[in-house]
Amino acid sequence: IEQSALQNDKLAMLGKIAAAIAHEIRNPLTSIRGFIQLLRPYLLEVGKEEYARIILTEIDRANDIIYEFLNSSKPSAPMKQAASIDHLIREVVMLTESESLLRNTEISVETYSAEAYVSIDIKQVKQVILNIVKNALDAVEEMQSDRRGKIDILLSSDGQYVKILIRDNGKGMDKATMNRLFDPFFTTKQAGTGLGLSVSYRIIRNHGGTIRVDSEVGSGTEFIVYLPLAE
Ligand code: ADP
Repeated sequence: IEQSALQNDKLAMLGKIAAAIAHEIRNPLTSIRGFIQLLRPYLLEVGKEEYARIILTEIDRANDIIYEFLNSSKPSAPMKQAASIDHLIREVVMLTESESLLRNTEISVETYSAEAYVSIDIKQVKQVILNIVKNALDAVEEMQSDRRGKIDILLSSDGQYVKILIRDNGKGMDKATMNRLFDPFFTTKQAGTGLGLSVSYRIIRNHGGTIRVDSEVGSGTEFIVYLPLAE
């Protein structure tokens, strides 16, 4: 699946607009958040504390979206340094530990290559792996079966590329979803932004790598991230 030039333009423009307005929106959101906190005890008195909770959740969601918009403008020139992919993956797994526990999902990591050193922007690539693992956790949750969630991460290299395979036994995707996967704003989730994978794709392309996807409805999805090995 290739991301078209049009999609790249769309993302670049989005980034510019986001950077320009994010600041202006964030400040009022912060003060609204503060005042709602102050109103909380009064709402509690009249038995409407639930309203405060909803407002706070929605403000946080708006903030998340702004944050993701801002992020989408950033991944232009990666700040590369030598990094161990194995180490990076284990960090991502640690970051998602509470979420995977909550969803009764086991994440396993297997490494088949000792020399998986790459020259990457660690923050950016970590964001990519985190996006994919979080999507996998969502897919496992939406499956709603008795089957235990399982996410396997396999790390290998072929002498030219490091191959990071992330497989879940979640709900999978049909062809129509697969075709739009990397489109900015494409989402099938109620609280999704549809930015995670379009940004991820751009980051990996900027690193001279690529992302491949394979999926089957009802049985799961496999993402493979390829990154060129350090010379
Ligand atoms: P978001 O997570 O905000 O929806 P993404 O760009 O990360 O945005 O993902 C776009 C869409 O791709 C998701 O809404 C979902 O439909 C689909 N998707 C991504 N990863 C998976 C997965 N592992 N299993 C099933 N569907 C997936």
